[in-house]
Amino acid sequence: MDNNIYLKFPAISENEAFARVVVAAFVTRLDPTLEEMDDIKTAVSEAVTNCIVHGYENTYGEIELLAWVKDRELSIEIRDKGVGIEDIKKAMEPLYTTKAKEERSGMGFSFMEVFMDELLVESKVGEGTTVKMKKVIGVGE
Ligand code: ATP
Ligand code: MG
Repeated sequence: MDNNIYLKFPAISENEAFARVVVAAFVTRLDPTLEEMDDIKTAVSEAVTNCIVHGYENTYGEIELLAWVKDRELSIEIRDKGVGIEDIKKAMEPLYTTKAKEERSGMGFSFMEVFMDELLVESKVGEGTTVKMKKVIGVGE
């Protein structure tokens, strides 16, 4: 049976931990290893943080989080309706950041890419950004 969750929450930094914990609780049913769990939590943190610090910058906004599991594959979508990204390919390059002065290292997308099996970023300037990630849990066990 398919099982989907949908969550909408304000883009404030306190909710980064909230999103991480919700996804962690959701994937427990797949009995992930500690490493898999850490990978997923890190990827979710990075995506949610990006919505807060870049998507909505200093404005109020909401983040939507969808997650579902099919067989052993976890899918997560995280979206904002913020400023959007002009050049997605460039934004995804390691060390690329538009906020170097604020101690951002430009590694968020790289972490998502490494820790998840699939990463897809869709974005339109002025409309927002959607990050889609997939990970198969428990392969090779
Ligand atoms: P770090 O994640 O290491 O703190 P960072 O957030 O700048 O630094 P990435 O997460 O890789 O690095 O993102 C790269 C760039 O893509 C950002 O600097 C920003 O310009 C843009 N970006 C990422 N997510 C969004 C988003 N949700 N809305 C608008 N722009 C974004
Ligand atoms: Mg980031």
